[in-house]
Amino acid sequence: MSKVLVIGAGGVGSVVVKKCASVPSVFTEIILASRTVSKCEKIAQETFEKYGRKVETYQLDADNVADTVALINKTKPKLVINVALPYQDLPIMDACLETGVHYMDTANYEPIDEAKFEYSWQWAYQDRFKEKGIMALLGCGFDPGVTGVYTAYAAKHYFDEIHYLDIVDCNGGDHGKAFATNFNPEINIREITQKGKYFEDGLWVEIDAMSVHKKINYPNIGERDSYLLYHEELESLVKNFPTIKRARFWMTFGQEYLTHLRVLQNVGMTSIHPIVYEGKAIVPLKFLKAVLPEPSELGENYSGETSIGCQIKGIKDGKETTYYIYNNCKHQAAYNDVKSQGVSYTTGVPAMVGAMMMLTGEWMKAGVYNVEEFNPDPFLEKVAEHGLPWQEELNKPLAVNT
Ligand code: NDP
Repeated sequence: MSKVLVIGAGGVGSVVVKKCASVPSVFTEIILASRTVSKCEKIAQETFEKYGRKVETYQLDADNVADTVALINKTKPKLVINVALPYQDLPIMDACLETGVHYMDTANYEPIDEAKFEYSWQWAYQDRFKEKGIMALLGCGFDPGVTGVYTAYAAKHYFDEIHYLDIVDCNGGDHGKAFATNFNPEINIREITQKGKYFEDGLWVEIDAMSVHKKINYPNIGERDSYLLYHEELESLVKNFPTIKRARFWMTFGQEYLTHLRVLQNVGMTSIHPIVYEGKAIVPLKFLKAVLPEPSELGENYSGETSIGCQIKGIKDGKETTYYIYNNCKHQAAYNDVKSQGVSYTTGVPAMVGAMMMLTGEWMKAGVYNVEEFNPDPFLEKVAEHGLPWQEELNKPLAVNT
C-alpha cells in the first residue's frame, strides 16, 4: 500500500525497519537512510534473512535539508519515519514540507548546543503542515508515545476527569556492562543531567537533577528506586488533558549507573561545550558516546524486563477512581523477535504502529499532532498484536499515589 523512508539506523531504526517488514500489506516498500550506510546495510541484510524483504539503503546526513529533499524526490515515500536524533527533527520536517510528505518521530526537537527539549519548535509547524495538507505525528515511541496513548485510553474508557498522572518507567534488566545507556548515550545523558520538572496546579515545579526519588513496586520486577525526571510527554499531556492537577515522570536507575554518571559528570565528561584537544574542538559528551557501547549492541545477553506504565487517579461518575495501565517487555523476547534489546523494541514497535495508523487512515489529518489526540483503541490493539500487550488494574492502590 505504501512506501516509507526510515531515517536513522541505530537501535530503534533496526526495530522499526524489521517490524515494518513484518507487515507487507501496509509497508509495501521500505527505504533506510542514515549517516553511516554500513549500519543500514547490516539492518537490510538481517531484514532480508528474517522476512525475505528487500530494504533499499542510502547514506544521508539529515542535518542537510537539501540532501533529504533530494532523497525524498528520488525515492518518493509517502511517509518519513525519523528515528535519527532529536537534532534532526526540524531539518527533516522542513524536507517533508518542501516535498509534501508525511512525517513522524519518537523524540521532540532539541537544539544541539543547549540541553533543552520542548514541543514549541515543532508545534510551530502546525499552520504550514495544514496548508500543505500533510501530517506530522510527534513522539510515537513508548515514552513519549504509548504513555500518551495509555492516558488517552484511560480518559476514554475509565475517567470523566483525570486529576493525577504518574508515568512510571522501570528497566529491570541487566546487560552485563559496567556502564551503558539503552538509547543514544548523548541524548540519554543530556536528558537525565538536566534539572527535573513536574506539573502541579497549573505550574511547572523545577527540582535539582535526581534530587527526588522513591521506591516504586513494579509488576513482576519488585521495588526499584525511581527518580523524578522531566520527560517531554508531560508537556503535551497537561495541554491535551486540562483537568490534570499534577503530572510527574519517574524512571529507575541502579546505584552502579548513578555512580558512573556522577564520576563522569565530576570530571567533565558529560559536558556539551566543546574543548580544544590537540588543536581540535571536541565535545566531551560526544567523545564519551563514541567509547560507550552502542544501544543496538546490547541485546544478545540482556536479561530481565522493562515495565512502563501510567498510574492515574481521577473521577468517574462522581467517584474517585484509580487506574494503572502498563506493559512489561522481556529483553530476551525482544532479541528473539528482532535481535534488539527491550528499550529499542518498546520504542520501535509503537513507531511502526504509529506509521501504520497514519498510512491506513486511522490517524490521518493535516497538521502537527501528539499521539494522545487520536483514538487510542486501534493503536493499542495493533501494539499488542505486534509484541507489546497491555495490562491494567482498576481501583487498586497506586504505588506513587502521594
Ligand atoms: P542510536 O544512537 O542507536 O541511533 C541513532 C541513529 O541516527 C544512528 O544510526 C546515527 O548514525 C543516526 N544519525 C545521527 N545523526 C544523523 C544525521 N545527521 N543524519 C542521519 N542519521 C543520523 O539511537 P537510538 O536508536 O537508541 O535512538 C533513536 C531515537 O529514538 C532518538 O531520537 C531517541 O531519543 C529516540 N528514543 C525514543 C524513545 C521513546 O520511547 N520515545 C526511547 C528511546 C529512544 P551513526 O550510526 O552514524 O551515529
